[in-house]
Amino acid sequence: MSSKMEIYNTFGLHATADRYLVINDESQLRQFLSSGQLSQPYLILGGGSNMVFTRHFSGTIIHLENKGIRLLAPKSSAEDCLVEAAAGEVWDDFVHHCIGHGWHGTENLVAIPGTVGAAPVQNLGAYGVEAKDIIHSVRAFEIATGRERIFTNDECQFAYRDSIFKGVLKNQYIIWSVVFRLQREFHPDIQYKALSEALHSAGIESPTPQQLADTITQVRWGKLPRPEEMGSAGSFFKNPVVPAEQYHKLKETYPDIVAYPVSEGYKLAAGWLIEHAGWKGRSLGRCGVYEKQALVLVNRGGCTGQEVLALAEAVTEAVRSQFSVTLQKEAIII
Ligand SMILES: Cc1cc2nc3c(=O)[nH]c(=O)nc-3n(C[C@H](O)[C@H](O)[C@H](O)COP(=O)(O)OP(=O)(O)OC[C@H]3O[C@@H](n4cnc5c(N)ncnc54)[C@H](O)[C@@H]3O)c2cc1C
Repeated sequence: MSSKMEIYNTFGLHATADRYLVINDESQLRQFLSSGQLSQPYLILGGGSNMVFTRHFSGTIIHLENKGIRLLAPKSSAEDCLVEAAAGEVWDDFVHHCIGHGWHGTENLVAIPGTVGAAPVQNLGAYGVEAKDIIHSVRAFEIATGRERIFTNDECQFAYRDSIFKGVLKNQYIIWSVVFRLQREFHPDIQYKALSEALHSAGIESPTPQQLADTITQVRWGKLPRPEEMGSAGSFFKNPVVPAEQYHKLKETYPDIVAYPVSEGYKLAAGWLIEHAGWKGRSLGRCGVYEKQALVLVNRGGCTGQEVLALAEAVTEAVRSQFSVTLQKEAIII
C-alpha cells in the first residue's frame, strides 16, 4: 500500500491515486471489507487495459492478484466441465491453461489483455464469442457489506460489452472468481470472416485448439497495437446500433457502409465511420487514431488522459456531423 503511486494501465498514461491496495488472498479481502478501511471512493483495477486515467484518483485503487484455476470435478460431466478461475489470473494465461487441459470454449478469446475478474464486467468478446457464452457464474463480494454473492449467468445481465457490473452494480462488487462451463470436445467456432479467411489462406480446414488460438493471435496483432509497443485501451468506441430506417438512409448515401443486422436494427462498424469521417491515422496532440484500425486510439508518446478525451471528442463530433450517429465510448474514463 502506498500513496500517490503511479498505477498500471495499457494506455501508458501517467496516473496516480491516494492509495493503492493489492489483495491476493480471500481472508485479506474479507478482513479489509469488514474493517471498514475501504472508504469511498474506490476503484477496482485489473490489468488497466480498458481504462483511461484523466486525473489523479482521490481514493483507493484495489488491485487483485489472487491466483488459481481449478476443475470443479464433481460438477463436471463427460460432455462439459466447470472450471473456476481467480479474478487476478491473467486472462490469456487462463485461455492457454484451458487449451492445455483440453477444456474448450475460450480459444477465440485468446490474447485479449487483462484479467479474469474483468471478463464478466464488459462481457469480453472477440471473433464471434463472448464471455457470456462460457460463463457459468460469478463469485463476488459486496464492498459495502462484505457479503458474498454468487451471480448466475442470467443475473449478470450480459449484453454487448455490458453487464450488471458496468450498470446498476457498477463499482459495488469485487469479483473474486469466475466459473466457466467449458466443453470436453472441441467444436471450433470459425464463422467470423477474418478468421475463416486466415485459416483458409493457411490451408487449415479443421484447426486444432492450438492452431485456432495461434491463428487468432496472428490476426489480432496484425490489426491491433501490442500494448508493449504502443499504448491503447483496445477498441475505444463501441459499434453503434441504429434503427433499420436510419441504416437504410445511410446505405443510400454510403453504399459501402459496413453494418450487421441485430435485433434492434443494425450495428454499424465504428471503425468504418471514423475512417470515412477522415480521422484514420490522424493525431491530435500526442494521441492518435491507429492507422490499421480506426476504432483504436493510441498513445503516440507521452500522451495525457486529457489529450485522449480531446481526440475522442473531435472524432465523435466528426462522426456525428457527417452521419448523425453518436459514438459511445467502450473504454472506461476515470
Ligand atoms: C490491445 C487491446 C486489445 C483489446 N481487445 C479486446 C477485445 O478483443 N475484446 C474485448 O472485449 N476487449 C478488448 N480489450 C479491452 C480489455 O482487454 C478488456 O476490457 C479486459 O477485459 C479488461 O481487463 P482488465 O483486467 O485490464 O480490466 P481493467 O481495465 O483494469 O478494468 C475494466 C473494468 O472492470 C472493472 N474490474 C476489473 N477487475 C474487476 C474485479 N475483479 N471485480 C470487479 N470489477 C473489476 C474495473 O473497475 C473497470 O470498471 C482490448 C484492450 C487492449 C489494450
